[in-house]
Amino acid sequence: MNDKHYDVVIVGAGIFGMATAYHLKKENAQLSMLVVDKAAQAGAGNTAQSAAMYRDTFSSEVNLLLSSTTRDFFKYVQNDLEIDLSLRDITYLWLMDRLQFEKNKNAIEIMLENKVRIEILDKSDIKQKIPSLVTDFDDNEEAQLLNLKNIDYGLLGYDCGELDADKITRDFYEAEFKKMGGESLYNTTVTKLILEPKGEKLGIPGEPVGWQEKKIGGALTSNGDTIKSDCFIIATGAWANELLLPIGVNCHTMPIKKYLFRVQHSKLANFLDNIHFNGENTIPFFIFPVHGIHLKPVKYNNSIWIGGGSLIGKPYIMTKPEEITLEDNPLDDTQANDRDYEFDRYLILSEYLPILKDVPLTNSWGGFYAMNTIDKNPVVFKPKGIKGLQVVASGSGSGIMKADAIGRIASALFNNEEYAELFGGSKFKVSRLGLEKRDVDKEDFVI
Ligand SMILES: Cc1cc2nc3c(=O)[nH]c(=O)nc-3n(C[C@H](O)[C@H](O)[C@H](O)COP(=O)(O)OP(=O)(O)OC[C@H]3O[C@@H](n4cnc5c(N)ncnc54)[C@H](O)[C@@H]3O)c2cc1C
Repeated sequence: MNDKHYDVVIVGAGIFGMATAYHLKKENAQLSMLVVDKAAQAGAGNTAQSAAMYRDTFSSEVNLLLSSTTRDFFKYVQNDLEIDLSLRDITYLWLMDRLQFEKNKNAIEIMLENKVRIEILDKSDIKQKIPSLVTDFDDNEEAQLLNLKNIDYGLLGYDCGELDADKITRDFYEAEFKKMGGESLYNTTVTKLILEPKGEKLGIPGEPVGWQEKKIGGALTSNGDTIKSDCFIIATGAWANELLLPIGVNCHTMPIKKYLFRVQHSKLANFLDNIHFNGENTIPFFIFPVHGIHLKPVKYNNSIWIGGGSLIGKPYIMTKPEEITLEDNPLDDTQANDRDYEFDRYLILSEYLPILKDVPLTNSWGGFYAMNTIDKNPVVFKPKGIKGLQVVASGSGSGIMKADAIGRIASALFNNEEYAELFGGSKFKVSRLGLEKRDVDKEDFVI
């Protein structure tokens, strides 16, 4: 039983919750703060399930600012603070057919204007650098049945790569938060946010009723305790609706299941070894021209992680809060469906990369994108009409690569600042990621 009354309680110790905890405590050393998570440690939710890739190959100003400043901060942590994050610029290679390239020309122009370090490869460059990649399917009936697209161009992003999401979440954000006096409570599920009248309780049935001003009076936990705090910051990612919908708050987030498949074989060694792209002498992270299928090279153990794939026919999960029990929550399911590899990704990939034929599937896992249904960008807001509540959610499949900026914006919002200062000094108007004055420009670089 914890009787302490905190200034701030953050529910959710994923990368968003921990980046918020770190920046908020750093800005406000005097705050008493607690981070609560149902898992046994920080970063064990969808942060742990991710491929943990980062990129700056975006055309939208918001995407570019959030991702490039986050990457630069992570590099600062690794290079200047000397905390190993296993961060490596292995580069991204977006493979496109002629039509996709034409469609993306405007976005490419914008990237070049914004000094994003990219290079366009044509088909002969691609063939020369990656001889085992098949680029043309005009005479291949099977490939035509699979609706495969030819590879005519590649967009290579240089300042893009991978890091270890556990390390940034735990070894940096959590460790620093604790050094500053922040507390954590794991293996504890917040089961309900208690909505109360902001002023005196009047004893009316169903209090607080519509006209009463409201506040969050506490959070009930699976241990039977009530945590008390002046402010609750909800950073529960794909689970955000469970706590917010019952109190009438819509954070426009939809959980979408995503899988990663891992294949491994010594015969991949030659393919993974490549001198043309990065200092790691490996192939880039590939994005294929169909269904966003992507491939992450893991050279040290001759394996490849495969993600993406068509979402049509895959159910969205809208959990009904009253049906959720602690033992049986569909959003806790981390299983992948291996048939989706066997009858979908494998058939496609083994046409583009015949070297993958008969390479065994050695592992697979799943997780949920907390997908923002407005514009696929995070939401950082204080719900109107409820005192003591803030939401930091909707990583939308790019939460790792935007996390540091999101932590800074969440901290600025708590402090009622109009602008957050992102790493490197750029200013970001906090209301741009809110709901009322949201201002997220459209992303044009999509395949
Ligand atoms: C398969 C996959 C691949 C991905 N690849 C990438 C990638 O390459 N690059 C990238 O940038 N992003 C990627 N993402 C997205 C990225 O993982 C997320 O955007 C990011 O981790 C979101 O962080 P978060 O802190 O919001 O959520 P989470 O890490 O899920 O944290 C939420 C936390 O809340 C806790 N929690 C939930 N409910 C409660 C409750 N009631 N009480 C207490 N605790 C609770 C959970 O245990 C969890 O720890 C990927 C995601 C998936 C699923």
